[in-house]
Amino acid sequence: MSYFVQNLRRFAGELMEDPVGGPARISAALKVKWKTGLEETFGSSGMGRRLAARYRGRGVVLMFHEIHEDVEGNLRMGCSPDQLRTVLSALRAEGRDVITPDEAMKRLADPQAGDFAIMTFDDGYRDNRTLALPILEEFGAPMTMFVPTGMVTREAYAWWLGLRALFLSSDEVEIEAMERRLTLADAPSRNAALRQVGLWIGTDRARADALKPTFARHSISIPALIDEVAMDEREIRSFAAHPLVTIGGHTTSHTFLSRLDDAAAYRDIADNKRYLENLLDRPVRHFAYPYGTEGACGKREAEYVRAAGFETGFTTRSGHLFPAHLSTPCLMPREDAGFAHMSGSQLENRLSGARRALVTQFGDPVAGLR
Ligand SMILES: [Zn+2]
Repeated sequence: MSYFVQNLRRFAGELMEDPVGGPARISAALKVKWKTGLEETFGSSGMGRRLAARYRGRGVVLMFHEIHEDVEGNLRMGCSPDQLRTVLSALRAEGRDVITPDEAMKRLADPQAGDFAIMTFDDGYRDNRTLALPILEEFGAPMTMFVPTGMVTREAYAWWLGLRALFLSSDEVEIEAMERRLTLADAPSRNAALRQVGLWIGTDRARADALKPTFARHSISIPALIDEVAMDEREIRSFAAHPLVTIGGHTTSHTFLSRLDDAAAYRDIADNKRYLENLLDRPVRHFAYPYGTEGACGKREAEYVRAAGFETGFTTRSGHLFPAHLSTPCLMPREDAGFAHMSGSQLENRLSGARRALVTQFGDPVAGLR
């Protein structure tokens, strides 16, 4: 078994945590295949499940973004309604109750309380109401939507929407800032290009900004794109009135908080809370970090989230919720379950806790600063 673990650690280390632009000999696309292969093997092996048992926590927080009927036509930037339904069915089969973040904090403190899941949706997309909510209603499952002010006001620099529009509008695009000309002949090449530019941006706001001249040259208006897909003030207010819906904070600008100076980072968090509370006329107690990776947020940001008055803060670090998180409630992990075409094994790894075992090479089951 130790040979198996050693090799798994090595592969997990090389493939799961490989930084952007890692070994040049492995193309990004190949890496994705290998990572997926590792997850498939791990999830389907009884040994993998046993090794990962200590990574299973009391709660799991699942993250979604857009929900699309036409996943391919939207360059896989969201998942299908069927995938959402599959996730909810799997949670039900596991005996995990879907609950609100408020209820989750109570359950974490109560050793007798049952296992749970929290369904979270980032960025304030309109399809969360039209496509996700009816499915959540079927299951009686509450949802939390984390809303950046700038998506509601159309002022956020939603570069990812700009890239999608750009790659859907042309067969060939020159990204001046990357000094790259991308050929976008078919759906796979568009998806690959989107991923490539996303990885290139990483957590570098300057690189995201460097795309602006390209957008301008192609007459791409980010506010108009946000207007197409995100809820406005009136829609957020009516959505928030639904008994299954909790609204949480997600900063004003939806930028990489780690790249802002102290005052600006605090302001980006606190102003968003004030904005949403004024809009909804109720307290907003929960928060999710834009991007949520180690590079995007850490201890400083968690302190600001707490100082601004939020009770919880969710990252995108892999892992489940344990009672230990009651001492670091502003740095709690989430698992992405909203990417396109999640396989059965990938879902299983997220619900069993096994994914964190893979990502951390069998490190600490409790995700905190790392
Ligand atoms: Zn976001």
